[in-house]
Amino acid sequence: MPDRDDVNRGLPRVKPDTLVAFVLVHAVALLAVMPALFTWTGVAAFAAGHFVFGTLGINIGFHRLLAHRSFACPVWVERMLALFGTCSLQFSPAYWVAVHRRHHQFSDEPEDPHSPRRGLLWAHFGWLIARRPLDLKPTVLTWRYAKDMMRQPFYERLERKNVWAAVGLSVWILLYVAGFTAEALAGGTWMECGWFGSSLMVWGGALRTVVVWHSTWSVNSVAHVWGYRTHDTGDDSRNNPFVALIASGEGWHNNHHADPVSPRHGMQWWEIDVSWLVIRLMMALGLARPR
Ligand SMILES: [Zn+2]
Ligand SMILES: [Zn+2]
Repeated sequence: MPDRDDVNRGLPRVKPDTLVAFVLVHAVALLAVMPALFTWTGVAAFAAGHFVFGTLGINIGFHRLLAHRSFACPVWVERMLALFGTCSLQFSPAYWVAVHRRHHQFSDEPEDPHSPRRGLLWAHFGWLIARRPLDLKPTVLTWRYAKDMMRQPFYERLERKNVWAAVGLSVWILLYVAGFTAEALAGGTWMECGWFGSSLMVWGGALRTVVVWHSTWSVNSVAHVWGYRTHDTGDDSRNNPFVALIASGEGWHNNHHADPVSPRHGMQWWEIDVSWLVIRLMMALGLARPR
C-alpha cells in the first residue's frame, strides 16, 4: 500500500467548468426564496422529482442496481432508472458507478475519491470540483471500474461530450415549457406564463437537483463521520438516521459497507430504508428480482 503522505502530495487542481456549473445551479436554486416563484405545483414538481430522479434514479438505479448489482431487473427498467439518475446531474452513470466502486475498494484509504479523512468539505463536494494528483482521469476510471457499462453503447454514449448534462438539463427546460403552456391555456398573460414556467423550473429543476446533491453527498461526508457502527468494517462508515431520512435509506452506510451487495441497507425495524421498500414493491410487481 502506498504511503499516505506520499500519495497525497500535491495540491488538488480545481476543475473550473465544474465549479462554475455548481455555483450556477446553486444560484438558480436560491431563487426559490422569491415569493413570486412559489407555487404549490412547483412544490409538487420538487417532491415528485426528488422521488423519481433521487430515490429511483440515484439511490436505487445508480447505487444499488448499477454500482453493486444488488438485484436484477429487465433491461428497460435498468435503462429507465439510469436515465432518471442521469437527470440528477451527478455526472454520467458509468462515471458515478466507477467513482463509487473505487470508494468501496479503498474506503477511507488515500485512494478513496472522497474520504472525510481529508476534510469534511472535501468529502462533501470538494472532490467533485477538484482533482488530486493521485485521482484517475475520468476515462481511465470508467474503463477500469465500469467496463461492464462502458461496453454498452447506451452508457458509452451518455459519457460522450457531456451528453448526460444535456439529458439532465432537458428536464429543466421541459418543466419551464410545461408551466408556460399550462398558464397560456388557462388564459394567463405572457408575464404570468413566464413566472409559472420559472416556478416549475426553479422548484422542480434547480432546487430539487441541489437538495438531491446534498443528500447524496451527505452519505460520503456525514455518514463516514457521525453515527453508530454495527459492524467493524475497517473503514469509517457509520449508520446515520438523519442521512437515512434525507437519502431514502442510504444513511445506513455502515450496514452497506459490511454487505455492499445487499439491496437492503436498513437491517433493524427502526432502520427505515425507503429505497429497499421501493425495491420490494418493484419485486412484487415483477419489475425486479433477487440477483
Ligand atoms: Zn462509504
Ligand atoms: Zn455502495
